[in-house]
Amino acid sequence: MAIRRIITQGDARLRKKCRQVTDFNRRLHDLLDDMRETLGEAQGAGLAAPQVGILRRAVIVLDDDEQMLELVNPEVLEQSGEQTAPEGCLSVPGKWGMVTRPSYVKIRAQDRFGNWFEMEREGLTARCFCHEIEHLDGHLYVEHIDHFLSDEELEAYYEEHGEEAR
Ligand code: ZN
Repeated sequence: MAIRRIITQGDARLRKKCRQVTDFNRRLHDLLDDMRETLGEAQGAGLAAPQVGILRRAVIVLDDDEQMLELVNPEVLEQSGEQTAPEGCLSVPGKWGMVTRPSYVKIRAQDRFGNWFEMEREGLTARCFCHEIEHLDGHLYVEHIDHFLSDEELEAYYEEHGEEAR
C-alpha cells in the first residue's frame, strides 16, 4: 500500500467525468488499498479516485462506525429529506461551506470483486455518498455554496449544534 497525493481544486482532472470500472483486478485492489491508506492519513470522511488522479468510478466513504466502505461504480437509487451542514473536501483544504443534501440516500454499487449490493444510509454517511459520487462526474461541493464559511461562522455552527456534529 502507498499513500497517494491528493490533487486540489484547479487541477483539471477534478472536472472530468470518470469512466466505469470494468476490470475487478489487482490494479483496482491496489487503487482501493491506496485510497484507504490515503484517506486514513488525511483523516477525511471520504475520498474519490479522481482526487488521487485516477479517472475511474471508485470511492471510499467512512461510515458512522468508522468503517471504510468501498463503492465501485456507485449510483444513487433513491433519496429523500433534507439536511444542511458545513461540508469540506480534501481537495479544497482548510475550507468549509454550508451544503444542503438529502437526509436519506439509497445507493447501489459494486464491491472490489464486482458483486453488486445496495445500501441505505442517513445523516453524515448519506451526505458523504452524495459528495463522493458527485466527484465521479467532475463536480465539487463548492458549486453548491455561495461563500466559504469564516472561522466565526463555523464556530457558531458547532456551538449551536454541538461538537458531535463536527
Ligand atoms: Zn471531496
